[in-house]
Amino acid sequence: MNKHFIVKLILAFLILILNDFVQFIEPVILTIAVFGYIIYLFYDEINLKKIRIDQLIRQYQQEMNIVNKESSLRTKQLESIVSNINFPMVLINQHAQILLVNDNFLKLNNITEIKQLHENSPLDTELRNFMREAFLKEISSQKTMNIKQQDYSALSIPIYENGRYMGCLYIFQNITYILERERIQKRFIADASHELKTPVSAIKGMIEILNRPNFKDEETLLDFHQQIEIEAKRMENIIQDMLTLSRNTTKNVLLNIEQFNPYQLINDVIRSQQSSIQQKRIVVENNLSKELNVDADRDKFYHIFSNLLSNAIKSSERGTILFESSMDDRFLSIMIHDEGIGMHPAEIPYIFERYYRIDESRSRNTGGSGLGLAIVKTYVNAHQGTIEVQSIEGKGSTFTCNFPIKIVKKA
Ligand code: ADP
Repeated sequence: MNKHFIVKLILAFLILILNDFVQFIEPVILTIAVFGYIIYLFYDEINLKKIRIDQLIRQYQQEMNIVNKESSLRTKQLESIVSNINFPMVLINQHAQILLVNDNFLKLNNITEIKQLHENSPLDTELRNFMREAFLKEISSQKTMNIKQQDYSALSIPIYENGRYMGCLYIFQNITYILERERIQKRFIADASHELKTPVSAIKGMIEILNRPNFKDEETLLDFHQQIEIEAKRMENIIQDMLTLSRNTTKNVLLNIEQFNPYQLINDVIRSQQSSIQQKRIVVENNLSKELNVDADRDKFYHIFSNLLSNAIKSSERGTILFESSMDDRFLSIMIHDEGIGMHPAEIPYIFERYYRIDESRSRNTGGSGLGLAIVKTYVNAHQGTIEVQSIEGKGSTFTCNFPIKIVKKA
């Protein structure tokens, strides 16, 4: 056997084996290919789904971001509305947790931080009971309560969403000023009827006597005439003063500012009361600086010093009543001294109160309404000024009105 024959024999043998191998391997490859393809398709589908899910998630996140932004914007807006509202306010949810609260509510309860609210329930007892009851009963209610010496109107508003109870909103309004106004009005009506009743019944009594058929007493007739005149004058004063006071509280006094000379004004005031001055042994002097001008309400100034002079005359039988002025870098002070009966130190704090009269009967005789100094104080305060009194019983009194220096204009 030569070499070529052996090679051919090996080749033939290899072809035979290969053929068998190919025949064997073909279905395996086919199966692998088919499976591979199926897996590929499956994987592709999963991939596609994954991409779609990713897209959905991204879209959802974007939408959530927008919703979050909007809701945090809305929450911020709500918070800023609540914090800017002037009333104490608090909103709690259905689990009695605080959702929104403003500084005014914290201040009302002497709290500086919200967390203190959760920690040790420092709320005013009446307020806490009101909140608890309204929350538990889910009711809209209103109650007037006194917290820290202020009157509040407390309001509860239950919040519902699709018929479900979601919590409660509480608003507290300070109504001290409103109640005070009501009290003043009631007092005014009571005072007015009380004050007018006395002169009216005095006049009625005298007229009744005068109307008696057998009344002939000339002396009493003359006396009654004078008394009726005094009582009528008194009623006129009371009505006039009441009207003045009802129109003017310090807050609503309208000032008509003009430039005038206080020295001349005091001269006018003295001249207008010359007849009362002459009935007594009194001298009135005006020592105000002549060179001084002020920017103020002339009528109100006239009323102030006219009242003070009238009081000084009523309280004095003799002596000197002196008007003076002084200035420092803050105030222009105008003083009126008298040498009259003076006042006991215990009386002084009350004399600016309405209807306060130290000696009722004496005041009635002089026709005072008891409102004069209340009006004086209102007018001085309206000029951002203050009024002070120094008095010694039996020696005399000094009333000092201090006005801010800015009203002074050098003549
Ligand atoms: P009235 O109309 O009674 O004068 P006022 O409000 O003007 O009311 O004064 C209140 C009270 O203050 C007076 O009743 C009087 O007793 C007292 N009073 C006011 N001014 C003087 C004064 N110069 N000297 C002494 N008492 C005074």
